[in-house]
Amino acid sequence: MRANSDDSAVGGYAPYAQLVKMLLPSARCIAIYDNYTELVWCSEGFERPDLRALLEHQHASDTVAGRGRVENTPSGTPVFISALRAADARPLGSVVIELAAGARGTPSMVVSMLRPVLDCLERLLDLEQPAAASAPQPAAALATASERGAGVELLLKVDEQDREDTSALAELLRHTTRELGCVTGALLVPDKHLEIVWTEANSEERAHLDRTQKHLLAWVRLNNRPMVVNRGVAGGAEAPYKIMSCPLRDAHGRVTGLLALFRASTAEDFVEGEVRILEFVGRKAMAVLHSEYDALTGLTNRFIFERRAQRLLDAAPAAVLYVDIDKIATINETFGLGAGDEVIQRVAALVQSAAGATALVSRLASDRFAVVLPECTMGVASEIGGAILGATSQLGYLHDGEALPVSVSVGATVGAARARLPHLLAAAELACKRAKRAGAGRLEIIDDIGSLTSAPTRQTLAAVDLEEALRANQFHLDAQPIVGLRARTSETVGYELLTRLRGPAGEVLAPDKFIDACAEYGLSPALDRWALCAAVETLRPHVQSLLGSNVFFALNVSAQSLESRKYTAFALDTLAAAGLPMSLFTFELKESVAVANLGVAEAFIRDMTLDDFGSGLSSLAHLRQLPVSYLKIDGQFVRRMLTDRIAESIVSAIARAAHTLNLVTIAEHVESAAVAERLRELDVLLGQGFHLGRPAPLLAQLLQQLPAAPVARLSTRA
Ligand code: C2E
Ligand code: CA
Ligand code: CA
Repeated sequence: MRANSDDSAVGGYAPYAQLVKMLLPSARCIAIYDNYTELVWCSEGFERPDLRALLEHQHASDTVAGRGRVENTPSGTPVFISALRAADARPLGSVVIELAAGARGTPSMVVSMLRPVLDCLERLLDLEQPAAASAPQPAAALATASERGAGVELLLKVDEQDREDTSALAELLRHTTRELGCVTGALLVPDKHLEIVWTEANSEERAHLDRTQKHLLAWVRLNNRPMVVNRGVAGGAEAPYKIMSCPLRDAHGRVTGLLALFRASTAEDFVEGEVRILEFVGRKAMAVLHSEYDALTGLTNRFIFERRAQRLLDAAPAAVLYVDIDKIATINETFGLGAGDEVIQRVAALVQSAAGATALVSRLASDRFAVVLPECTMGVASEIGGAILGATSQLGYLHDGEALPVSVSVGATVGAARARLPHLLAAAELACKRAKRAGAGRLEIIDDIGSLTSAPTRQTLAAVDLEEALRANQFHLDAQPIVGLRARTSETVGYELLTRLRGPAGEVLAPDKFIDACAEYGLSPALDRWALCAAVETLRPHVQSLLGSNVFFALNVSAQSLESRKYTAFALDTLAAAGLPMSLFTFELKESVAVANLGVAEAFIRDMTLDDFGSGLSSLAHLRQLPVSYLKIDGQFVRRMLTDRIAESIVSAIARAAHTLNLVTIAEHVESAAVAERLRELDVLLGQGFHLGRPAPLLAQLLQQLPAAPVARLSTRA
């Protein structure tokens, strides 16, 4: 699973993919297809168009009771396939989940694990595809098409197209135009800079067509329905063409473009059946577009990007830029998610225009972009990077008189022909990280990938600083209360311990200032051990009263600590030596900065309840000795659950899954009484967040928890 940043926007299918992985640890890639076996969405790294073949049998063998099956791909990978249906049992499409090789479990077990998330997916698919829901089934469209004899062939040919390129769209348009006996076809989606025209017309006629298309676009935008002109007047004279057009709609149902066919005025009239074919082709065209482009920015999505980028690299040397917006979280927090989205959109446009027409630009994840510049030297790539920096620095976000500067960090690298994209991307990303660490809003380059592994690239100073801070005890622990949501008295049942660093000027630095650097320098295990020792030292004098109060302390454990396999032993030893019971602690795992607590849950569930599905869990297996029994619901969902339907359905799905698994749920980032109330309704047991209690030094929290604690002894650790 790749890192997404914590500020990644909630939306689309990605959160459900995280949920699937959480509920079903053997899940690998996930793909969602519509009724026409068009790919609606897929998770990163999904490279199996051959799964389509498995889907062909979907409807035949899908039974309402079973609702899923496990099959092997031709190459022997097990995949779980389930139909997705609307509440009224209308088929919506299918979900295909690749499982780890050797994964065990019957389809019905998989279905029962995935039920909550399948419910969510069905709701989302139904909502996002109103057109598909009311669309004629392919069979119906084909029947109408057969009126003209040519239609059947047309549609089947389209199905065989390679859909990953706009050439597929051009091909689709050409077929449609010719098979329907037209002289010109046009497919226009202005906001994607997409204008495909296929025509037999001469240049004079073309100028006329150009003007007509603009009018048509305005008309379909206004009227939002198909239009047929079989007889009409244009400027007093008879129109030289018969015209049939229909609107093209984006995933939100907004009209974003137009599909139009022109037939000579002497030819047959357009008939109703042909309008339906046109609409069907229009939906197919949009499905192709949706699967290729990111809805927010209009840039190619990662899936398409990876394929096209590798093709470019195979052909010629290229430069790669990695662009990451600085502090998007601050923008989101200050001005709301809408503002964050707007900044992302504007930066996307700047990157695109700085990179030029020959560049391939993609939004990789929330606020991160990649650019492939074919046949480009490092010199030129740096200039383009500089232009991106310059343009974004002009981009202040203004809102209600408040202004926030916008900046990006850029990493650049170059690769020879046939270089592998992942290597170049990783190098560019690393360069970008360096740019961030060096103060952000700047460009860093790595021009020799080969040297990466050998030359020490660390910023030794920062590493030394951190090591020194650990030695000199410049860190301290804050504790944030975790409270019961059921009783309205909000009883504190535990605390999450959060590490803080005291800066040179005495300021307190939160983990976002040092946690990534720790990970990069391999210091995370040292930090985690420090946190455990600090907690033990602080708690030890109060063990008796703490045990009486049944309160627990949650420590964050880094991925590196888990991987090193020494943390568990260290924790057990340290607690035993201090005479503290294990029951006083729980441990929070975070697989990456991003999947945050979903990752925690995944790891916990893997270990605790789902051994049957497990594979490749060796690095986590030793954790079984630690008490793990709750599920943390990620703050990015909780925070937004009252305003974001998807976020709410995710929280509710996790809550239901947790009940099934007998796990206690903790919702983090509870920022308001209203959210707490909604969580209560969803039967979420525990909550944590600014509304319920801010993080404060552990000692101060303890003093509240244990009013009788001997102050004199506590003050030794002030
Ligand atoms: P986390 O585990 O997700 O911790 C919760 C973070 O959310 C904390 O940020 C906390 O201050 C913040 N938070 C709490 N309530 C709210 C709320 O209502 N709204 C919002 N927006 N935020 C809230 P903090 O303290 O900056 O910690 C950041 C991350 O650093 C933690 O994320 C944790 O993963 C990591 N971390 C902290 N201490 C340690 C440590 O000792 N070891 C390791 N490996 N990681 C640590
Ligand atoms: Ca945590
Ligand atoms: Ca979190």
